[in-house]
Amino acid sequence: MTRSRPIILVHGGAGLRGMNEAQASCLAETLRAGYALLNAGAPALDAVEAAIRVLEASGLFNAGVGSRVQLDGVRRMDASIMEGRHLRAGAVAAIERIVHPITAARLVMDETSHVLLVGRPATRFAYHFKLERQLTAGPAARRVRRHGLAAAFTAKTLRLYKAMAGTDGPTRRRPGRETVGAVALDWKGTVAAGASTGGIDCMLPGRVGDTPLIGCGVYADDRAGAVSMTGLGEAIIRIAVAKEITDRLAEGLAPGAAARVVLTKLVSRIRGAAGALVLSPDGRFAIKHTTPRMAAGYWNGTGKPVVRDQFA
Ligand code: ASP
Repeated sequence: MTRSRPIILVHGGAGLRGMNEAQASCLAETLRAGYALLNAGAPALDAVEAAIRVLEASGLFNAGVGSRVQLDGVRRMDASIMEGRHLRAGAVAAIERIVHPITAARLVMDETSHVLLVGRPATRFAYHFKLERQLTAGPAARRVRRHGLAAAFTAKTLRLYKAMAGTDGPTRRRPGRETVGAVALDWKGTVAAGASTGGIDCMLPGRVGDTPLIGCGVYADDRAGAVSMTGLGEAIIRIAVAKEITDRLAEGLAPGAAARVVLTKLVSRIRGAAGALVLSPDGRFAIKHTTPRMAAGYWNGTGKPVVRDQFA
């Protein structure tokens, strides 16, 4: 296989509404930061983590300081990261008060032999490594508290959830800020994938989506490619979308075709909605979404970073 020059793809979530200017320039800045690392010889894993850190710190997306809160007013975040050479992976779920869940995920990978840490112990693990803390829970949490929902999980919370979710189950109704993710290929031909999220609208306390689940929200294998997902986690989990797309790449499908086949299955079998970044180790890539919009971009160091909110 001819070795490709490095490339990085990032996304700011799939949803109903287009991105605003601030989000577009943040995604472009992210691509520049990630590509600069790749070009200097850094591993794809470093570029993915660095890119996601920019998005988590921006407050412009549903990740890190911009994360949504759950129905009890608490912000619980999920993130994962994986590299394709040795199939190493790390993830955190329901982590609280950390600016960079993606770095907590990376630390799980680098500093332990586990793959996934959850809840308060995950938060304490991040504190142990002195990860930056969020200063406030944010205006959304204050609003939830004002409406009297801040108590722990109660019958009231469940009633509220049922009323809000209706008969269709979980939703991602409120557009604007969405999940973030990235995939990258380095000079050595290694791929990596990552994602970070504050979840969906109207989540029961303790709800975890696809993002921290290896094979669902992300997957990376140098023999096939790298995938980072966004969309309704409840559907993505049931099809194990990231692994299924990677398997199609391994069978020889091009990134666009692999994404199309699996996203079509997601929609037709279980009425899911999602977007995917798909990158193969030879540098071919696709950005596909079943939602009206997906904020995303790519750059391989030639020309300018490309950032759009709609891809064919
Ligand atoms: N996949 C995320 C989740 O279900 C949400 C998103 O991508 O917008 O938690």
